[in-house]
Order: sequence, then C-alpha cells, then structure tokens
Amino acid sequence: MSKALIIAQSENGARELSVAARSLAQEVVLFVAGANAFTNVADKVCHVDVPGNRIADDAYVSLKNVFDSEAPQYILAEDCLASLSLIGRLAAQTGAAVITGVRSFDGDTTESLYFGGVGVRYAKSLSDVKMYVIAQDAFDASLATGSDLVEEVAFIEPDCAVEKLSSEALPPASVDLGSATIVVGCGRGFASKDQLQLARDLAAKLGGEVGCTRPLAEGADWFPREAYIGVSGQVVAPHAYIAVGVSGQMQHMVGCSGADLVIAINKDKNAPIFSQCDYGFVGDIATALPALTAAL
Ligand SMILES: Cc1cc2nc3c(=O)[nH]c(=O)nc-3n(C[C@H](O)[C@H](O)[C@H](O)COP(=O)(O)OP(=O)(O)OC[C@H]3O[C@@H](n4cnc5c(N)ncnc54)[C@H](O)[C@@H]3O)c2cc1C
Repeated sequence: MSKALIIAQSENGARELSVAARSLAQEVVLFVAGANAFTNVADKVCHVDVPGNRIADDAYVSLKNVFDSEAPQYILAEDCLASLSLIGRLAAQTGAAVITGVRSFDGDTTESLYFGGVGVRYAKSLSDVKMYVIAQDAFDASLATGSDLVEEVAFIEPDCAVEKLSSEALPPASVDLGSATIVVGCGRGFASKDQLQLARDLAAKLGGEVGCTRPLAEGADWFPREAYIGVSGQVVAPHAYIAVGVSGQMQHMVGCSGADLVIAINKDKNAPIFSQCDYGFVGDIATALPALTAAL
C-alpha cells in the first residue's frame, strides 16, 4: 500500500497536505512537532512533544525514526519555517530531492509557481522517495479526512541543537492588504517614520490600506512584516496600487502585478518604476503627497 508522510505545524496546513497526499497515496501519516496533535486529518498522527528549551526544527532525529519505521514513498511538508527545516534535514539525511511550491500534481509531475507568480514550472522528482513542499492554499483543506489515532513519539535530542531563549506572541496583523481595493505602497523614499503619515492620509482619503517595500518592514521596522509586498511578502491585487518613493525592483513589483492600475510617485524621473506604471508623477513625497491628498 502506498504511503505519504506529511509534516505540518498548523491545523489548516495539515488539512491541506492531507488532501494533497491522498491524491498520491492510499495511507497518510501526519508528523507534528510541538503543536497540538491535530486529529481527523490523517490515518495516524505521530506527535512529538518538543521540550520548552528547544524548537520544533530540532525534532529531526525523531522525524527520521518515524520515516524509517513508516517507510513512506511520499513526504509532503507545509510551507512554514519548521516544516521546511525538517524536510530539508530529512532530504539531506536520505539523499532525496525536494520540489518546492507545489500547487498541483499530474501523476509524478508537479506544477509550481516561481518568483511570486511570474512563471509556472513543471518538474518531476527522480528520487525513490518523492519530497514536496506544498504551496499555501493550493488544496482544499475542508476535504481532509482521517482518524483520531495519535501515537506519541519521543523527542530525541539532536547532536546540533538550537537553544530557545524566549518567545512572545506578536500583536495580530494590523493590515488587510489582500482585500483592499486601493493600496498605497511606501518605499525607501520616505525620510522618516513620521513622514509615513502622508501616505496614511492619502490612503484614508481613498478608503485604502497602506503597505510597503521590504526594507521598511525588515530592517527599518517601520511596518509589521505582513505589510510588505513582493516576491517574499504579500501578493496584492487591488484596483489601484499607488507606489510612493518605490524604485520598482522586480522583487517588489511581482507582488503588485495583479493591480488593475499602477500609479507611481518618485522624485527620480529615471526610476525603473516609471516604465512599469500606468501613471507616473515626478515629484518629492514631502510636497506631492499632501497636494494629491488635498486635491482629492
Ligand atoms: C531574494 C530577495 C527577495 C526580495 N523580496 C522583496 C520583496 O518581497 N519585496 C520588496 O519590496 N523587496 C524585496 N527585495 C528587495 C528589493 O530587491 C529592493 O531592494 C526593494 O524592493 C527596494 O525597496 P524601495 O523601492 O523601497 O527602495 P529603493 O530601491 O532604495 O528606492 C527608493 C526610491 O525612492 C525614491 N525617492 C527617494 N527620496 C524620495 C523623495 N523624497 N520623494 C520621492 N521619491 C523619493 C528614489 O528615487 C528611489 O527610486 C528582495 C530582495 C532580494 C534579494
């Protein structure tokens, strides 16, 4: 009987993997480290209780033991940090290939999007054991099926462990870019955190949301991480995307390629964004934004 081992940290992720796995194998076993043992999503759950001073990624020796005893033909991992780390370790230990970002299967052929959706790639693993990372929302989690059978698996201390010093919950997401019809995207052209108020005023006038480029969320910390748009951040599809002080690098622009209209405001008339927008204004944020907001 063909078997798939799925590696997940969140319940929704486990449910999506379960649906993907059932399209490949007759039996599905879920490996979950640290989080709760989600039931009714797989035929069996192998749950590892991770000690408080360790991180889920360190359950890789326990995972290898489960892999050896279950002998699956397929490994599917959720696209989240711990599961990526775990499948990477397992691939390195077993010498298998991993295909990432999988959205669908046609037999052994996988379909993945790359670079935030600028292209689609079809690929096939030549390994005996097939390992896949499944893209978020690619499979319908509501179709998951399974039993309530849970097997507790011992946490085995790895040779190279990570010590968890502390952790704390962050405030819930403060922006909802996915459903916004207008997004004002802020870039490094903003001189200070205070100057972002000009973008917020414009967004408020238009009933929109404010997002940013990656450097403003990672590094400057002017925005929460979920507010940055691009290949490694949010992909948005508003009616209008207003890019302010944004140069127009490809890694950012693929994140707003679904916008019906792109408007750019930049003081450099040679900025690359001007060749990627529908309307462009050459001007300084300090004067152009208040004037635009006042004119609306
Ligand atoms: C692997 C990888 C992944 C990445 N993923 C992402 C991603 O998902 N999202 C993302 O955004 N970036 C991402 N980046 C970073 C990306 O390559 C760019 O560095 C980043 O998008 C640039 O941000 P920016 O346009 O705000 O800054 P800059 O490129 O520095 O541009 C600032 C712009 O502001 C203009 N400006 C300056 N002052 C003013 C003013 N007073 N008034 C008007 N205009 C002004 C300048 O002319 C300039 O064009 C990634 C990079 C790598 C290597």
